[in-house]
Amino acid sequence: MNRGALAEIDISALRHNLGIVNTLTGNKPVIAVVKADAYGHGAAEIAARLSAGGVSHFAVAYTGEGRALRESGIQGRIIVLFDRTDLEDFFEFDLTPVISDLKTAETFSSEACKRGVCIRVHLKIDTGMGRTGLMPDAAVASAVQIASMKSIELEGIMSHFSEADLQDRSYALRQINIFNAIRQEVAAKTGLAGIMCHFANSAAILSLKEAFFDAVRPGIMLYGCSPFHEDFGLRPVMRVSSRILALRSFRSGSPVSYGRTFVTARESLIAVIPCGYADGYNRLFSNNAEMLVRGKRAPVVGRVCMDATMVDVTDIPGVSEGDETVLLGSQGSESISARELSGRINTIPYEIVLALGSRARKEYRD
Ligand SMILES: *Cc1c(COP(=O)(O)O)cnc(C)c1O
Repeated sequence: MNRGALAEIDISALRHNLGIVNTLTGNKPVIAVVKADAYGHGAAEIAARLSAGGVSHFAVAYTGEGRALRESGIQGRIIVLFDRTDLEDFFEFDLTPVISDLKTAETFSSEACKRGVCIRVHLKIDTGMGRTGLMPDAAVASAVQIASMKSIELEGIMSHFSEADLQDRSYALRQINIFNAIRQEVAAKTGLAGIMCHFANSAAILSLKEAFFDAVRPGIMLYGCSPFHEDFGLRPVMRVSSRILALRSFRSGSPVSYGRTFVTARESLIAVIPCGYADGYNRLFSNNAEMLVRGKRAPVVGRVCMDATMVDVTDIPGVSEGDETVLLGSQGSESISARELSGRINTIPYEIVLALGSRARKEYRD
């Protein structure tokens, strides 16, 4: 039995968004971020379509994700942003580690020696994100040391912005300055002028040319969500819909759903939608969101349940059981964006598409 939500993934929108990245950066190499199953869009499919569109570098969080991409036939470079525990996987599946300390570099070096191969690594600098990466004062010496280790090729140096929406540009510029200084010193000391430097996430690609360097790492913008209020012409890739399971007529004064948090104030027509928080439709949308039915907005009434949500369709004429209901995306001339939903529950669009896309059955449309 399928779950009640369908996620349609619009590949032409994906291609369009990749085109925006290419236009903004003047065709810099793209490291497409497909971690967390491509933000819920399906990493194998998304990576295959991006490959066909000319992308040759991908980034994931864990080796397991990289392995799954290899097993689905992806051939480009796969950079593993966080995980460095499954050492063998890096060699067996030709994955590229991101290294944040010397000890890990030594481990990779000796394993590569043992196997008689060379491994390419990217070094991460913590320029102010405060997550992983070498501290700036240790960065140059470590980079020089890593570059000289046996069986290691220092292929890239990267950093990450502290803000995905770049509200504070001065902080971002400070991060860039730190990165630039390190980059120049490393190039001078190692003679490796060809090291690929990459820093820009979606927000920086959209608004901060100084961050472009040799390659860019877009995530959310490929999926059509802007980190800003302006949409930059990006087109949402995911649309999530369901169908009305049942239509119920309630007298005025009738409670709807768990806890009776909604009581009808009039004679009401309530549609039961077979999607709930098990489908990634957040429980905080209780009495606090809308779905589209027959091209009109229908308010969510009462608590979102595990497998069902009720919407009030009293004001929408002609509704029948089986009608399509849109949780995310457009129907007719109305549309519900990931940004709108995220604003209602004080989160970010990333979490909305990830939650809905992860649970829904997916169909890819060209
Ligand atoms: C997730 C991630 C990105 C992509 O960020 P977006 O804001 O989705 O563009 C880039 N780089 C690193 C290191 C990341 O973890």
